[in-house]
Amino acid sequence: MIILMKKGCTQKEIASIVEVLKSHGLGANLSEGQQATVIGVLGDKSKLGGVNLELMDGVEKCVPIMHSYKLASREMTPEGRTVDVGGVVIGGKRLVMMAGPCAVESEEQVREAALGVKAAGAQFLRGGAYKPRTSPYAFQGLEDEGYRILRRVGDETGLKVVSEIVSHDEIDAACKYCDMLQIGARNMQNFRLLREVGRSGKPVLLKRGIASTIEEWLDAAEYIMSEGNYNVVLCERGIRTYETATRNTLDVAAVPVVRERSCLPILIDPSHAAGKAAYVGPMALAGVAAGADGLIIEVHPNPKVAMSDAAQQLTIPAYESLTKQIAAVAAAVGREM
Ligand code: PEP
Ligand code: MN
Repeated sequence: MIILMKKGCTQKEIASIVEVLKSHGLGANLSEGQQATVIGVLGDKSKLGGVNLELMDGVEKCVPIMHSYKLASREMTPEGRTVDVGGVVIGGKRLVMMAGPCAVESEEQVREAALGVKAAGAQFLRGGAYKPRTSPYAFQGLEDEGYRILRRVGDETGLKVVSEIVSHDEIDAACKYCDMLQIGARNMQNFRLLREVGRSGKPVLLKRGIASTIEEWLDAAEYIMSEGNYNVVLCERGIRTYETATRNTLDVAAVPVVRERSCLPILIDPSHAAGKAAYVGPMALAGVAAGADGLIIEVHPNPKVAMSDAAQQLTIPAYESLTKQIAAVAAAVGREM
């Protein structure tokens, strides 16, 4: 349930509502937007017994939240959330660009990719240290050494680091070396992992599951937020459909749907959706046109020899020229690069 406050309500009125909630064992999520002040009630509202909050001073009305997710809902935070990762704000006017190789293969490879994407305006370096591969015989990643390489190169180049964790075993190392933890599509409903990244307090990039509905995705975000970590950014990366021409089917419509139903920022990953470098650019532009808050794109100094996802990684010059097109689309939809 949310409590919508009257325009011009006082801090004292807000404080006394929060106090009533607390005294009944409930939490409060305060959202003071320019349009309205909203207090989200956290917990089982039946604990309120006979208390009628609508009779309290300053209250306009109480509205139930019909979704299973509450903190991730738009109703709870009507003005939307931004996520600040060491000074880079995701969800503001400026698009956030994350780029780098599919997998960390060596320090030289990561450095070359990082210098290229940094020069093209990216703020984040991506790279997989633990790779969730379909085949157990495929390259599984450099593991913790991969995180350390990302950190060193991130520090050298002034890029924030985002990297995936595939199990709770990596959480301490990932928190030490990364600025943002990625939960990949295959783990979107690994509920224990979601709770643990929630407890870590680190910003989380939550990819959409391969066959997950938007509601299931938002429920997954709620798992993280219910542990007190509100720094969650969603990432649409394509879903499995009957179409085989692309690796996955990018659900561009997920952007406006998420915007309507959720307060969380959303990025697009055109690389894993397309599966082929030639399709990455058009999908990236579509994502920005639809209102995404940024992009995460795979870029490799020499995609032909990449140890994973070779077909979909962009060269540095291709990424550079794509960013110019992205800037034009961003300007057309009122965003900055
Ligand atoms: C990745 O970004 O490295 C990755 C494996 O993506 P996804 O989880 O979307 O398949
Ligand atoms: Mn990849």
